[in-house]
Parts: sequence; C-alpha cells; structure tokens
Amino acid sequence: MRVYQYARQIKISPKHLMEICEKAGIKGKTYVSGLKDEEISIIKEYIKKSKLAGKSIVSDGTDTVGELASKLSISAADIIKQLSDLGINAKINDRIGTDNIKKLCDALGILVEIRKTKESYLAGTARETEKELVPRAPVVTVMGHVDHGKTTILDFIRKSNVAAREFGQITQKIGAYRVNMKEGTIVFIDTPGHEVFTAMRSRGASLTDIVVLVVAADEGVKQQTVEAINHCKAAGVPIIVAVNKIDKPNANPDAVRKQLSNYGLVPEEWGGQTVFLDVSGVTGQNIKELLEIILLMGEMMELRANPERPAEGIVLEAYLHKQKGPVIHLLVQNGTLNIGDFFVCGTAWGKVRAMFDENGNRLEKAGPSTPVELLGASSAVVPGDKLAVVGSEADARKSAEAKIQEQKSGQDKAQKQITLEDLQRQIVQGSLKELKIILKTDSIGSQEAIKSSVEKLGARDSDKPGITVNLIHCGLGTVNESDILLAVCSKALIVGYNVGIDSKAEKLAKQQGIEIKMYRLVYDLIEDVKNTLEGMRKPQEVEVMVGQALVKQIFKIGKNQSVAGCLVVDGKIVRDARIKIVRNGRFVFEGFLTSLKRFKNSVREVGVNTECGIGISNFSDFQAGDIIQAYQKVPEGTKV
Ligand code: GDP
Repeated sequence: MRVYQYARQIKISPKHLMEICEKAGIKGKTYVSGLKDEEISIIKEYIKKSKLAGKSIVSDGTDTVGELASKLSISAADIIKQLSDLGINAKINDRIGTDNIKKLCDALGILVEIRKTKESYLAGTARETEKELVPRAPVVTVMGHVDHGKTTILDFIRKSNVAAREFGQITQKIGAYRVNMKEGTIVFIDTPGHEVFTAMRSRGASLTDIVVLVVAADEGVKQQTVEAINHCKAAGVPIIVAVNKIDKPNANPDAVRKQLSNYGLVPEEWGGQTVFLDVSGVTGQNIKELLEIILLMGEMMELRANPERPAEGIVLEAYLHKQKGPVIHLLVQNGTLNIGDFFVCGTAWGKVRAMFDENGNRLEKAGPSTPVELLGASSAVVPGDKLAVVGSEADARKSAEAKIQEQKSGQDKAQKQITLEDLQRQIVQGSLKELKIILKTDSIGSQEAIKSSVEKLGARDSDKPGITVNLIHCGLGTVNESDILLAVCSKALIVGYNVGIDSKAEKLAKQQGIEIKMYRLVYDLIEDVKNTLEGMRKPQEVEVMVGQALVKQIFKIGKNQSVAGCLVVDGKIVRDARIKIVRNGRFVFEGFLTSLKRFKNSVREVGVNTECGIGISNFSDFQAGDIIQAYQKVPEGTKV
C-alpha cells in the first residue's frame, strides 16, 4: 500500500502521514512510496502511543456513531467498520460510551478529550472522580423537647438580632436558610424537631448532616429529648448538645450532662465523644461558638458534592400560590440547578422558571447545600419528594407519569409493610439480622422491667450469631406519630404496654402497614418476643408424606359418618396427621385424620403392611381403592 492510500484509509492527510513516518523512524518516504506491512505496524504503534494523528476531538461520552462521524469527518460506515474490527457492534444511532469512544480514537490515532457535561451525567456516561467533589455546607436540624428553646435559637441565628452584620440578615422563610460566616456556611432546616426529620426519613429522604440537640438547663432531659436522641441514633446522625437557658438562675448544666451520659451522650470533657456547649438563645451566649463547632464537625465529616452534576434535591415545603402556581422550597443536595433545567419531582415535573434565595434575591443557579424557592412545577409536590434534573421535557413527563402509575398500583406502599410475621420471615430468610423494637409503656417501672427482660432475651440470642434484639426507642405514654415514623424508617416493631394509640398514629400506622402489638400483661409481651425469636431460631418446617394406606372397605358408623378399613401400603400412618385422599390419580379431599384404630383400639401409628381403621374429619365419602396419604410437618432436612 502506498503512503497516500494508507493516509486516506486512516483519514489523515498524506503530508501528516509522512511526518509521522519520519518521527517513527521510517525515513525517506514520499506520497507514492510503498509501505510494507511491518512499516504499517510501526506507524500504527506510533500513532497509538503519541496520538499524533493531528486531529483531536472533544466528547462528553454521549455521542452517537453518527455524531462521532461528523466530529471525526469520517463516514459513519467507516466508523461502524472500525468499531467492528475492535469487536464493538454498533449502529449509526447507538451511543457507544466513553470507553469505546476512547478505543475508537486510539485505533484511529486521534486524540480525544472526554469532558463531562450535564448531558453526559444524565446519560450515565460520566463518572465522578474524587477530585471533582468539593466541600459543601453542612445541613443542620435543631431538635429537643418542647419549650426548651429550639425556635429561639433558630430565630436568634436567623435574625442575628445581636450581630446582624456578622451573620447577615434573612428575610424570607423558605424551609431552610444559610448562615454565611467568614469560616464557612451552614444550612439550618427551619422546622425544628424530630418529627419532620423522621417523616422525611420515612420517605427515604435524608437531609440532615448534624443535629443540634437543645436541652434546657433548668429542666433537663424530657420525653422528646429521648425521642430525639433515639431518632438520631436510628439515622446515624451525629449530635452536638446545646445546653440552653444557661442565663437562668436555676440552670444546672452539669445535671444535664449527667442525665445525657445515661443515653450514650458523654461529654468530651468527661472523656466521651459528644460536644456540649452551654448556650442561651435569649442572650446569644456561645451561639457563635456553636456555629463554629458545627462548621468544624462538618469539615471533619468531609461533606462533599459535585457542582458539575445535574441537580438533585429534596422538597422541604411546598404550597400552591394563587399567582405563582406550585411553589417548592427545595434544598439542592448535589449538582447545580439552573434556570431552564427540566426536572421531575415526586409525581410532578417542570422546568425551572425562577429561583429565589432566603432574602428574596433571584438566582440563576443554585449549587450543593443551597435552599431555594423554586417556581415551575406542573403540579403540587409534598415535603420529602426528591427532585432530579432530567435531559428533556419528554423525559420529565415520562418519569412523572411512571411515578403516578407506581403510586396507583400501590407499589411504594407495599414496600413499607412491617408486621411481626413479616419481620420474622425476613429474619428467617437472612435479610434482617436483628429484631428492632420500639417500646411504649405506662410507667418507668414497667419500662425498666420489660427492657431488662427483653434485653436478656437478646443476650440469650447471642449464641445464635446474627440475630439480636435492639430496643431502638423506649418511651412513656401513648403510641404517637413519631413512633410510627421511626418504625417505618428503622423497620422496627412497635410494642405497647398498658398504653393507647393516638388517632393520628393509628391512621398513619394503617396507611404504612405498621403492626402495633398491644399488651396488658408483661408476661404475654415477653412470651411473644421470645416466641418470635424462638421462631427465628427454629429451622423452617416442611410438610412431608410419611405413608400411604389403601382403602379396602367402608364401614358406616353413623348417619353421615364412615370409617375406612385400610391396609398401610407404604411408610406409616400417624394420628392427627394431615391427609390427602387420592382417587384415580387425583386429589379429591384434604383434611385431618381424626381416628386411627387397630381392631377396636385407638393407636398412635400403624406401620406398613398392617390393617387399620381410619376416620377423617368432615369426610365420609370413601370409595374402595382410594389412597389415603398422611403428611407430617418436620424440620427442614429431617429424614422421615
Ligand atoms: P421550642 O418549643 O423548643 O421551640 O422553644 P421556644 O424557642 O419556643 O422557647 C420556649 C420558651 O423558652 C420561650 O418563652 C423562650 O423565650 C424561652 N427561652 C428560650 N431560650 C431561652 C434562653 O436561652 N433563656 C431563657 N431565659 N429563656 C429562653
């Protein structure tokens, strides 16, 4: 093959090929010089190594064969052939992906630069690398008992009424707000309390990186303090304790530390792992320090996101506005949301029409950990719905329609069913390794008694590796919504002792398919948990046939009653066995054996080649020649 011919074949200019020959050590070639096979191999090798074929393209990995053809100025047919030589089968409209684009360009000696774009992320061809991830602001929820000062602290930070210039003024409620300090930015969720936190989690939405647990220094640990701790533990979210109302004369922050130590929150100064800060939401004492600690913890947690990706976020709040239409308060969690982006959100879809920050400023784009007010959804959404940017309006509509179908068919609901039987099954199957329990009782005394008995059952269980009992929350009083939500998130069983269920909780439990087990006697409660665990330990039982008898004669013993005179032809027949009657090869009846006799005597079992009388409950229509098969339940794997 001559130089110009080969140049045409590999789609570069003959001049360029001559340069390549020179550099590859093949000297003195002209346009028309012949190229030997070994020289072509050297050229190929050289091109592969140095990618000096002269051309370079940029691809985001989403190009189709046709698009590559126009970028490379090579006919699509040639590309398809080249790909086929590489063992890749593709048609003109196929996307071949980043790896194959690289292979193709390598073979052609063309330099390719893969650049990630929104489209390539959406098409799934772009992969994130460590260095594209950048630090993002921590997202914080404030929790604690009612009246311990959550709102006061949040308001203090929001309004910054003491140090407005230091923190920046916030004018609008959009479900969350950013606090910008010179050391960094923090996002606070505007609705305090664990209910919203867990309600979000029950919908699969985890927002919060860090929880600030507010405990009033004059009151100490209360019911909702404990709930908050257990909800955080179940979610695996770290806690910073703000001991509040430190300005009050009867404040006793040490007592709070002591109490919280019993719940596993041991202060750092006592050798534990939890940061405690004494604060006042009214005077603002130590609030700045609290913010600094949050930032520090966020840094240590190495919270990262990729602003280059198409955005993903979670709905914090949503409502319908007369003029604006559906309004979404959204936290962008990852990627960047731009004006004009198409998105799907819950069962709605839309195009980002406008975005505003917490000060009412219009935004063109919103990066990771940014709360925004978003306009442009087609219909209403609900808090906890996830938003994802998609490539086109058609994609957005399609995803939203699929979500609606899914909801109609009840698929998403079915996944949440939590009943004792269901949990037991999952443990037997090995998909669940522990029995999680939420315990509600009428008094501390009964709680302690039940707790220690149940924990003992768990300890006993440790000889069977993998199955444990975990009391994820113990509380006093009525089973409430927060218990149900925690059960949904944690796949836990709710057990109540001498308590009621509030009506909202009952409704929610029904909706979510959560079983609530109520007891009046401690003994019954412990027995049930024990049996559940025993059930889990027991190998599964299977039903096997233990013997067969042939009906030879029928004896009428009452108006509608008969017994069958039989010969045991196989195995044995046992009393109380489950039976099936086979007539001419077909099952005609299934039931239970009620009487088994040898002559006049009742017997427990009858062996092979022995005659016996068999009575069956609710069946008297025997016919000579029937086969009675006896079945027994035995542990799986037992030989009968
Ligand atoms: P929340 O239910 O946890 O949101 O509690 P609030 O923030 O509504 O506070 C309940 C009450 O405690 C209000 O009357 C507040 O003024 C008061 N309060 C909150 N923080 C402090 C504090 O640091 N010091 C004092 N003295 N009172 C506080």
